[in-house]
Parts: sequence; C-alpha cells; structure tokens
Amino acid sequence: MPAKMERRDFIEARPRAGVLNFRPSRVASRRRAGESNNRQGEEHLNNVIIIGSGCAGLTAAIYAGRANLKPIVIDGFEPGGQLSLTTMVENFPGFPDGILGPDLIENIRKQAQRFGAEFKSGAITDVDLSKRPFKITAGNETYETLSLIIAAGATARLIGLESERKLIGYGVSTCATCDGYFFRGKNIAVVGGGDSAMEEANFLSRFASKVYLVHRRKEFRASKIMVDRARANEKIQFVTPVVVEDISDVTKGGVEYVTLRNTETNQASKLDVEGVFIAIGHVPNTKVFRGKLDMDENGYLITHHGSQTKIPGVFAAGDVQDHHYKQAVTAAGSGCMAAMDAEKFLEAHPDR
Ligand code: NAP
Repeated sequence: MPAKMERRDFIEARPRAGVLNFRPSRVASRRRAGESNNRQGEEHLNNVIIIGSGCAGLTAAIYAGRANLKPIVIDGFEPGGQLSLTTMVENFPGFPDGILGPDLIENIRKQAQRFGAEFKSGAITDVDLSKRPFKITAGNETYETLSLIIAAGATARLIGLESERKLIGYGVSTCATCDGYFFRGKNIAVVGGGDSAMEEANFLSRFASKVYLVHRRKEFRASKIMVDRARANEKIQFVTPVVVEDISDVTKGGVEYVTLRNTETNQASKLDVEGVFIAIGHVPNTKVFRGKLDMDENGYLITHHGSQTKIPGVFAAGDVQDHHYKQAVTAAGSGCMAAMDAEKFLEAHPDR
C-alpha cells in the first residue's frame, strides 16, 4: 500500500475480484437484476439468488456483489445461521480478541450490503429447478434467477428443553470447537451417543477437568473405535442410560447443574456442571430440495468440482453440504467458491 494512500482509497483502487474477468454479453447484461429487456416479467429476473444468510451465504453475497451480480439473499428460517446463536467466536481469523457471533454476522452482512447485496426475509417453501431461470418461492413471493447458491446451513438438533434454548451461548453450546476453550478447568456434560459426542468429549477433555458423557441408552451409535477412545480417556465418565430433563439455572443466566432421569429405574439425579454440549446431530436444511438435487443418506447436498450440484447453475456452500468441518471459516470459504463458480457459470451461459 503506498505510504500516503488512505485505506479507503486503497480499497476502491484495488481490482475487484471477478469484475475484471466478467464480460457478460449484451443479452445477459440487459438481464441483470432490476433491469428490464422489455420482455414481460424480465425485470424480476435475477443473476443470482443466495438462499441463507449465515457465514457461507453472506460471503457468497460479498463476492457476487463485488462481481456486480446484484445478489438477492433470502434470509431463511434462522437469519445469520448458527453464528447468531453463539457468543464469543475466537477462531475466526482476523479477530485476535475474538468477536461475538452476532456481531461477526452483522459485520459480514453490512459488508455484503456495501457491495449491493439485497436482503429479503422469509424461508423457501418451494423451488423449481427443472429449467432456467430457476423459480424460488418464499411464501407469497416468487423469484426467478439465472443461478442459485444454496447456503441454507444445517441446524444443530436440540433436546427440546426450554432451559436449553434460553441458555444457548450461556453455558449451553452446540459446537465444541468453537466454545471448548471457555471451559478450562470446569466440569461439563456432553449429550449424545454418536461419533460427534465421542469426538467432542475427547476434544473437550483437553480443557475441562471432567467430561460427563450423557446418553439415553447403554448402547452407542458411535463406532467402536470412537467409544473405546472415549472410554480410555480418564477425564471422561459415561453416564447412561439417562435423559436430560432440565438445565439449571435459567434465572441466574448460566449453567450450574443438569437434572437427569434414568430410563431404566426412572430415578432422577443431579449432575453439577458448568457447561453442556449438545452433540445429538445436525439436520441439513434441505427438505425443499429432496428429489431435485443429489443428497447423501443424511440429507446433505452433494457437490463436485468445487460447489457444483448436479444441476448446472445451482451451487451449494457451507454446512448444507458439509457434515465434516462445519466451521464458520470453512463455510465462508465455500461461500466464496460458490459465488466465483456462479459468476463463471453466468459468464459461460449468457442465454437461458
Ligand atoms: P448421530 O450419529 O445421528 O448420533 C446422534 C446421537 O444423538 C445418537 O446417539 C442419538 O441417540 C442421540 N440423540 C438423537 N436425538 C436425541 C435426543 N432428542 N435426545 C438425546 N439424544 C439424542 O449424529 P452424529 O454423532 O452427529 O454423527 C453424524 C454423522 O457424522 C454420522 O454418520 C457419524 O458417523 C459422522 N461423524 C463421524 C465422525 C468421525 O468419524 N470422526 C465424527 C463425527 C461425526 P440414539 O442412538 O439413542 O438414537
């Protein structure tokens, strides 16, 4: 950066990713969002619609916006995605002191707006991907788009307790990688009996002084090797077969203990913990795409060659297609990939 150049000038002077390469045909440029080419309904035709406003969707919006594609972002059920449900995020690069999840989301959202992204509230109720332009329905609104980025995320499954909902971000977490660090030297519980629960219990044992692995059955869905590893860990104690009946204390705004009930004896008990990690699986938000796009057995979208789905012009990014890494930064990275892929696609397919 030249010594005297202001930061703002530098940002404006930098070549924008994608803009230099984007040479749409006249037809395509007439069809850009908000512009009419005098055919009925064309003014509603969008270059790219992004479903979901978590880290993946918002990053896709920044890139698509900077490529002058005038992206429309449809917020979805959970605006801001999973980050909006968490407190301090300490592993997103660029924030040496950490940043609150909702603040991070708000910043990325503003950044996307700055480059022309337009936000619409509502959840998708139907999609027609049988031909271009694709039709996207959100309640009473229908949108047409030449390309689509699905960044609808995955929702962490919750037990369903009111106290659990109220204490999320205040001792209750659905992400060990994100929040484990805050529980150094504390007693915590991990709820679940699958591979995620075993993995999270092992990971959390690095920080916590004691990890109770709380599961509703004596048998485990997790693979044997993962169970054996957790059993061999001196800091992990298995508590089964129990269900979590309540997490206390909502009135104090933090976790002090959980109330358990043994499913065989029906006896209630109390476990003193300062944190509860819910690891009972995630549900990708892909219901509306069933039968239309390829999914794995758990409903995650299958992508290839970056962010492509089986339908040309439809891309997927973030947790909706990733059950493995599930990190804010990986979601952001794949959102960037999807926007670049969509831009390339539009460049190569100026006509419908
Ligand atoms: P999962 O395999 O579906 O296991 C979910 C666990 O949560 C089950 O033990 C289930 O109990 C329990 N559960 C579900 N709903 C519950 C509720 N309402 N209350 C209490 N407990 C409840 O999910 P996952 O562990 O997240 O794994 C998902 C996929 O990712 C799996 O294919 C897994 O193998 C894979 N994965 C692999 C690794 C690895 O290899 N390193 C790590 C993580 C995940 P029940 O068993 O009683 O139904």
